[in-house]
Amino acid sequence: MGSSAFVNSVIRLVKASRSYGSPPVTALDAVSLSINRGEFVAITGPSGSGKSTLLNLLGGLDHPTSGEVIVDEIHLESAWDHELTLYRRLKLGIVFQFFNLLPSMSVVENVEMPLLLRGDPHHGIRVSALEILGLVGMTHRANHFPHQLSGGEMQRAAIARALVHTPSLLLADEPTGNLDSENASQVLEVMAKIASRRTTTVIMVTHSDSVAALADRRIRIADGHIV
Ligand code: ADP
Ligand code: MG
Repeated sequence: MGSSAFVNSVIRLVKASRSYGSPPVTALDAVSLSINRGEFVAITGPSGSGKSTLLNLLGGLDHPTSGEVIVDEIHLESAWDHELTLYRRLKLGIVFQFFNLLPSMSVVENVEMPLLLRGDPHHGIRVSALEILGLVGMTHRANHFPHQLSGGEMQRAAIARALVHTPSLLLADEPTGNLDSENASQVLEVMAKIASRRTTTVIMVTHSDSVAALADRRIRIADGHIV
């Protein structure tokens, strides 16, 4: 891969831009960025500045209009749909503001989903799901259904689901944006604990300065630019 400066760099954006519509609205404007393996990065910035657009590009949920988005040496900007599907299944965990748990499944069944999708043998799945629920402090809610949980518990279940397949990258888009302060602090504690293990690169969008202060690095975005 050439340049040794990027050996540890798990993520690289090279002049990545994304614009929408016509006349075009530029959500992200030629952003270049490298993030190392195991780094805990907080992304802050005002509403509408391009934070979710950036995360969507990193998650292979959206393509840049121009430029490159490289994760673990996979060029997401030119990857085929099936490559992106595999990327998301094998390497990526995503946590959204609105949990997105499947309501008809118990917590442990929700957490098992990524392992089922990946095609893991059935016998190990329950053990792995319960182990990761332990990490987020949710063992006692394993057999509950989403509607029986607090917001913070739902988000911790969603974090467990995002981590169960040991992704190399965890993306979280305002994971506490829909929580009261007590639930938010529980979720942040879990995020910080995960990041401190250094097994997963964590990129989290947040509005909170105190949260951003926990991260290794803080990236501020305004008007589609890094500032
Ligand atoms: P943030 O997450 O920082 O609030 P976004 O990345 O969601 O910001 O949006 C950045 C800009 O791109 C905003 O001006 C927004 O209106 C625009 N935008 C985002 N998604 C779309 C879309 N699907 N179609 C048109 N404009 C969009
Ligand atoms: Mg957003």
